[in-house]
Amino acid sequence: MIDLHAHTTASDGSLTPTELVQLAVETGLSTLGITDHDTIGGLAEGEEAACAAGLRFVPGVELSVDYKPGQFHLLGYFIDYRARPFLDRLTYLQNNRANRNELMIEKMKAAGLPITMEDLIEAAGGGQVGRPHMALAMVRKGIVGSVQEAFDRYLADGKPCHIPKVKLGPEDAIDLVHLAGGAAILAHPKYLRQPDEEKLSAELERLRDCGLDGIEVYYSQHTPEETETYLRLARRLDFAIGAGSDFHGASKPHVVLGRVYQGTGGDDALVAAIAASASRRSGSAPPPAARTPAAG
Ligand code: AMP
Ligand code: FE
Ligand code: FE
Ligand code: ZN
Repeated sequence: MIDLHAHTTASDGSLTPTELVQLAVETGLSTLGITDHDTIGGLAEGEEAACAAGLRFVPGVELSVDYKPGQFHLLGYFIDYRARPFLDRLTYLQNNRANRNELMIEKMKAAGLPITMEDLIEAAGGGQVGRPHMALAMVRKGIVGSVQEAFDRYLADGKPCHIPKVKLGPEDAIDLVHLAGGAAILAHPKYLRQPDEEKLSAELERLRDCGLDGIEVYYSQHTPEETETYLRLARRLDFAIGAGSDFHGASKPHVVLGRVYQGTGGDDALVAAIAASASRRSGSAPPPAARTPAAG
């Protein structure tokens, strides 16, 4: 069993990387990918814990991409998370996030909500602050009854305290993953909100031309029909296939680590295909014939 999509306290998950690795071992996973939002802050600890536990570890990241009408998240797998140019560009995103947090605190203040940066830092437990921590801080202060209520009333896109995040364009995000020698995999294609298969296919083909290496076919929130559709598209477009739950721990209690899809027995082949894409990107093997421009 594999799970290539999980969050830690480095972003908006509730378990530390070490705790997540322990849970992965207890769950019986053979491979775990850590994919925090816009940060590699959990990877060194996760890798060390996984190594000690004999668990195969996939260093990853999940980048937010500018896209309409739906939500585009890009997973980077087998990234060299110590590569300097990659880290510099991540820092740029993180600085933008920090500015946005300040501005959102201002908006909360204007709405009469007494939330401070200290509250957010405490809610984030030392990791990167995001909207889920603002929601948690509101719950803790008794301003709202639940995280969901905080989003519905204040924090969701377009609500009074929301400020959009600076996001990379699809090409820049794909390039960023490749800059770290990683494989670029579209997360949870259902959230692109493109239900028309032909249109989605055309969109994915365009993204493949920008360097997209694969799509997360197997995802905890995909219906069997969606899974079938994405599998068909992945095969048609010669994409690597991702498989992940999007585990966040207590902040998304309905998502269970390792509960990704009904196992097909092809888990190791999926990881190998993603690893092969990454090694092509990191230059340790020639690019695939399919992506070589036609002669003449
Ligand atoms: P941020 O990266 O700070 O914009 O926070 C994004 C996270 O907030 C997502 O990963 C979700 O976990 C959560 N989120 C965003 N919109 C909603 C919503 N409408 N309801 C509940 N959670 C949301
Ligand atoms: Fe999240
Ligand atoms: Fe996501
Ligand atoms: Zn995620």
